[in-house]
Amino acid sequence: MAEMAGMAFSNTPTPADRRLAPVIRLAPAKLNLALAVDRRRDDGFHELHSVMVPLALADRLSLAPAAGTEDTLWASGFDAGPLAQNLVLRAIAEVRSALGRAVPVPVLAARLEKLIPVAAGLAGGSSDAAAAIDGALDAWSAADALDGAALAELRRRVAARLGSDVPFFLAGAAAVVTGRGEHIEALPPLRGTAPGVLLVTPDARVSTAGVFEALDAEPLAAPRDPRSTRASSEHLATEWRAGLRSAALLDRAAILASSNDLAGAADLILPGLRSLRRSLARHLRRPVGLSGSGPTLWVLYASATEAADAAEAVRAGLDDGAIVAPGEGRPSIVATSIDSAAAAPNPEPEQEGAA
Ligand code: C5P
Repeated sequence: MAEMAGMAFSNTPTPADRRLAPVIRLAPAKLNLALAVDRRRDDGFHELHSVMVPLALADRLSLAPAAGTEDTLWASGFDAGPLAQNLVLRAIAEVRSALGRAVPVPVLAARLEKLIPVAAGLAGGSSDAAAAIDGALDAWSAADALDGAALAELRRRVAARLGSDVPFFLAGAAAVVTGRGEHIEALPPLRGTAPGVLLVTPDARVSTAGVFEALDAEPLAAPRDPRSTRASSEHLATEWRAGLRSAALLDRAAILASSNDLAGAADLILPGLRSLRRSLARHLRRPVGLSGSGPTLWVLYASATEAADAAEAVRAGLDDGAIVAPGEGRPSIVATSIDSAAAAPNPEPEQEGAA
């Protein structure tokens, strides 16, 4: 391996301005406010229509050029599984290979702080991958050699190869997601205070592939009507494009909480999820939705502070046995918010004549 390091880099000029400081990226969790799933396609993936939002809850990734011969990854927080298979390392390798000889691509040392529960329907691993694509391009100063269009195309191509949820995170905004997840239409920011979100994640990993398989197997515990979920998702998208207020989103919480076509399948995969959902709804007197393939359940609030109060109520309910969650240990309970700042790439146009 030592000779490989010499071969790869000894003849490559180092630009004087190459960054040596670590590149730091936040990798936000996502929530599906609505998720309509159509039939399985010939390539095995399902056609989706979803309105997805980034959350303030985020993993932290740092990438620094290093002296070794192989990219390395060190992780803390939630156990992300075998590090050699982590999407962060795959993303770095894919970006390196896509760049070819366009820029010097030294070995990177990655550190990942996992604050997002794993295999939970929050797409933490996909978000880490998107952050690694962006971070590696930055660490290698790829923008010095490639123009904006070429960089965007490279990002898109690598993201689609790494997973269905990865392209969403490159948008850095709430978005309408279609296709298998590769078509992204960024939405404008919500108007008003960022809604708070309570996340309750049972201590049980749920395989996305397993949930999609259960969806294809009939009969499901709860029969679904894909047309009605699709209509809810499209309706939300239309309202959001026109400029949705946070309060109006909260008004739609009940319909959105029942607009996830994977919910019945997730209930089959994780016994106890349905009853947790019901007891949370009773306890909090709010609609409770499922994010992605689960098992994370979400509840919307007017602010992060209200979500934090609800988190306390859920902890107390778990303590006194009023709420029972499936899984090995206690569920992860997080109060966070929809990340308005992440919606900044599409600022609303100034209103003419506004005071
Ligand atoms: O793309 P990703 O690796 O995240 O997908 C995991 C699994 O979820 C896929 O192997 C597939 O079984 C299922 N999936 C699907 N349709 C999608 C996205 C994912 O069937 N649009």
